[in-house]
Amino acid sequence: MLLDIDNYWLTWSLLMTFLSVRYGVIAGVFFLWWYIVRREKWAHRKIQTKYPSAQDYKREVGYSLMTFIIFATIAAAVYLPEVRPYTHVHRDVSEIVGANTALQAAYWLGGVVVMLFVHDVYFYAMHRIVHQKKIYPIVHKVHHTSHNPTPFAAFAFHPFEALTEFLIFPVIAFTIPHTIGMIATWLGMMTFYNAYGHLGFELYPKDFHKHWLGKWINTSVNHNMHHKYATSNYGLYTLIWDRMFGTVHAKYDAIFEEVSARKQTM
Ligand SMILES: [Zn+2]
Ligand SMILES: [Zn+2]
Repeated sequence: MLLDIDNYWLTWSLLMTFLSVRYGVIAGVFFLWWYIVRREKWAHRKIQTKYPSAQDYKREVGYSLMTFIIFATIAAAVYLPEVRPYTHVHRDVSEIVGANTALQAAYWLGGVVVMLFVHDVYFYAMHRIVHQKKIYPIVHKVHHTSHNPTPFAAFAFHPFEALTEFLIFPVIAFTIPHTIGMIATWLGMMTFYNAYGHLGFELYPKDFHKHWLGKWINTSVNHNMHHKYATSNYGLYTLIWDRMFGTVHAKYDAIFEEVSARKQTM
């Protein structure tokens, strides 16, 4: 559908609405369930026992909405009728791999995995850059104002940071043959995992951090520690790059162990 619209502002408005509603629904459901409905039942899994103030929620939502203005501006520009032919967007996977349905399904799934992987690399590198002393106060400090993040902090970025974060979008659109459905799935998974990363509650089971696969997967404890200490744990979906470059916080295992071993009291 998006590819049938030739008006920039119509595309922009649709994207802005879609991004804001998706964020509102995903972060809102996380918030409702863990901060209100199950607040006491899940209290033992709250990573930092304190709760943020109303001011914190407002700031996180406000900056996130500003972030979507930047995201929609970039995405609408990429799919402008004049720019679109230079991207690798297709109406259907069959245009990319032909009529074989098994191949289509494999390409669709594989393509989304490649997008997540490329984004994981991009995010880690960009995150290390925005933590550089001279760049941090201008670009990344806004995100770190949340020392005890909530799911609403998922997109709470300074507009400069929103811009740098979302340059991954043209990188993918101009290099990976894709459909709008594939891109939307990648970004939907990104929103979901990002909201979980900022949730403030750990949902993975005890000893997940020691599991052969869990060792390589980012957790809410890991990103919460990034907000608390701001010195390590730069990953988005995985811990591959943090482990490879030695940037996992020294206390990560101990804190994950402590949080996930707590007993339910209510
Ligand atoms: Zn964060
Ligand atoms: Zn950071």
